Amino acid sequence: MLSYMASLDGKVLIIGAGIGGLTLAHALAQRHIECAIFERETELKPVGAGILVQTGAMLALRTLGLDAAIASAGQEARVGVVTTDRGRLLQSTPMDFLRDELGVPTIAIHRGRLQETLLDGARGVPLSFASELVRYEADGSGVTAYFANGESARGALIVGADGLRSSVRRLLLGDSPLRYAGYTSWRGVAEVSDALTPFEVREMWGRGARFGYAGIGAGEAYWFAVLNAPPGERDADSLAVVRGHFSSWAPPVPALLDGTRPERVFRTDIHDREPVRSWSGPRVTLLGDAAHPTTPNLGQGGCMAIEDAVVLAHALERGNGLDGALADYERVRLERTSRIVKASFRFGKIAQLQNPFLIWLRNALLRFTPVASVQKQLRAAANFALEGARATENA
Ligand SMILES: Cc1cc2nc3c(=O)[nH]c(=O)nc-3n(C[C@H](O)[C@H](O)[C@H](O)COP(=O)(O)OP(=O)(O)OC[C@H]3O[C@@H](n4cnc5c(N)ncnc54)[C@H](O)[C@@H]3O)c2cc1C
Repeated sequence: MLSYMASLDGKVLIIGAGIGGLTLAHALAQRHIECAIFERETELKPVGAGILVQTGAMLALRTLGLDAAIASAGQEARVGVVTTDRGRLLQSTPMDFLRDELGVPTIAIHRGRLQETLLDGARGVPLSFASELVRYEADGSGVTAYFANGESARGALIVGADGLRSSVRRLLLGDSPLRYAGYTSWRGVAEVSDALTPFEVREMWGRGARFGYAGIGAGEAYWFAVLNAPPGERDADSLAVVRGHFSSWAPPVPALLDGTRPERVFRTDIHDREPVRSWSGPRVTLLGDAAHPTTPNLGQGGCMAIEDAVVLAHALERGNGLDGALADYERVRLERTSRIVKASFRFGKIAQLQNPFLIWLRNALLRFTPVASVQKQLRAAANFALEGARATENA
């Protein structure tokens, strides 16, 4: 797809000030590569609930010097627990061995606080709001981005960090529908005692339904509820709908729902896309959800956006020409992200099973899976490399 040699002889135009776009801005600014961010919204709203920043992303953030700030703005998740909807233990896996081995904790954090910390890191990078990209044109000497507000910007490279419904992706790879996973989700933030959610991330698996939560510090916990459902349903009162489905579940679900204000609950249908073999073209590339949207089952979508941003900045810095840099970026990121997207989709199918016999079988398998084997998978998923990923990931 990369049709001619070009060099990075101008600004990087970052489309989207989400998790990936802000991380990229910081990583480029740190390397003295000129960039600017263009965001469709009129401000950065501290919306959303919580997010798990896992080891790979924390290692990427460490290269930017942001790992400590993220860690202190959230709460460490030291154990991963899976139970049934009645609270029967299926699996409990210590995760803090990764902190001991690799030097970074797994952090559960409020999404708004993650965004603020990333934005702080990107201070100094020009950020234009109300700038929705609608079109771009690349030529031999650069690329021009056109925005819905009538303005335009000229640079050397466009990076589409514009999320699940990316316009840059549509212009680059063509229009195709998202894949609906078969389930919808609600996310909320509960104001509860930290003792209710002690340094763990917990999922409770029922029949075609799941509930998960983690403490994010400062007397808050984020939770998510997932239910098999047709796409496109809307709620008049999302908290009431979640209560209807989940308030009979084992503790602490009722207490978490009681501690949640209705305006802090968001519903999102879950979509992803089949991985592609390339997401770059002349003077344009993608990152994060724009490149490889994933179901949230492994909690890796935002983490992969962070990792992408750091790898892309590193590739651009190495001065292998623009096309060489984009090829390096894809070489390092395609395989890992494709593997995670596929694994997350499969995991969702298993977690959302409806059939009672299959659920029984699944739960038995979970109970008898050795902790060491779960930790081996976590160790493989934790692996983050700026370059040469293939060589290190399967070690
Ligand atoms: C229920 C649920 C739970 C999740 N849990 C986790 C988790 O625990 N851990 C994790 O790592 N991930 C999680 N994720 C996934 C994570 O939220 C996403 O993968 C992540 O936000 C992607 O980051 P991004 O920067 O690619 O896109 P986004 O954060 O979506 O940012 C895209 C930005 O681009 C802007 N934009 C869009 N179109 C345009 C345009 N045309 N022009 C200009 N700007 C534009 C948007 O306004 C937005 O600001 C979860 C997702 C869901 C739904």
